[in-house]
Amino acid sequence: KNPTPVTFIGLGPMGQAMVRVLLEGGHPVTVWNRTASRADGVVAAGASRAGSVASAVAENELVILSLTDYQAMYDILGPVGDALRGRVVVNLSSDTPTRTREAADWLAERGAELIAGGVMVPAEWVGQDGSYVFYSGPEAAFERFREPLALIGRTDYLGADHALAQLFYQAQLDIFLTSLSAYLHANALLEAHGVTAEKFWPYAESNLNNIAPMMAEAPKHLDTGDHPGDQANALMMKATADHIVQASYEAGIDTGLPRAVKDQYDRAVAAGDGDKSWTSLFEQLRRRR
Ligand code: NDP
Repeated sequence: KNPTPVTFIGLGPMGQAMVRVLLEGGHPVTVWNRTASRADGVVAAGASRAGSVASAVAENELVILSLTDYQAMYDILGPVGDALRGRVVVNLSSDTPTRTREAADWLAERGAELIAGGVMVPAEWVGQDGSYVFYSGPEAAFERFREPLALIGRTDYLGADHALAQLFYQAQLDIFLTSLSAYLHANALLEAHGVTAEKFWPYAESNLNNIAPMMAEAPKHLDTGDHPGDQANALMMKATADHIVQASYEAGIDTGLPRAVKDQYDRAVAAGDGDKSWTSLFEQLRRRR
């Protein structure tokens, strides 16, 4: 079977890494990028440069996008009109679930199908063990192109609702970005007392490693709404959350993140959940205030 030819649009760090693994996997790749010079490296590695977006899209049934956001897709594909008919557009750019559903409708009006993707690794990891991408959209179209996509990383197909890949991507980044900020804030507190990040790192590392096993029971509590507080309860943890805000204030550092956490404990306790576990904060977060 001949390797599927691929059109690839968007050659930031991510797009370039992906084009390279597709080429290494033996797939002919046609590339286009707004800033043409960014294609030079992958063209030297064997990709074909398309003279225009329309010719890039006309070339292959599979069109992969790696762009900053979904607006960039409209900017690029808006002018090509009929060339989109019959295409499967795999958009690996991040944006909101709503914009992803709108994009599926926009492409459907032009006779194309959308597969949305959420790339869960940095560009250096593309094509390596441990790399994975969430996908959602029409299953038949996804299965047809699973093989080239699998070169980028493990393909985790989530279902027909286009928003799912984006939703899982954002849920993962929600955990990731907040954790990174918590780590930085802890170091600002330490630094205010003359402790270096290097000195603290072994403890931070063991803390991060312990969090996942500690959370193993949490999904059950979130899904059932039952939050037994027999081990550590929200009232006890609220006291600690208060102390972190105070310590941060006294150290003269930013208090935004610990105040947000303290606020969640305050609300749980005010709602009568002080004797329940920390997972009871979920009941506060499930609603917009
Ligand atoms: P960049 O933002 O650096 O790449 C952006 C690409 O989008 C470039 O090819 C750029 O073209 C193009 N682009 C942006 N706006 C427009 C526009 N209005 N019209 C035409 N082209 C446009 O991103 P990355 O390569 O780093 O990432 C791509 C996607 O992958 C993003 O959605 C990102 O969130 C996601 N991602 C990235 C990770 C990473 O580690 N880099 C990790 C996980 C996901 P030009 O070259 O002309 O500027």
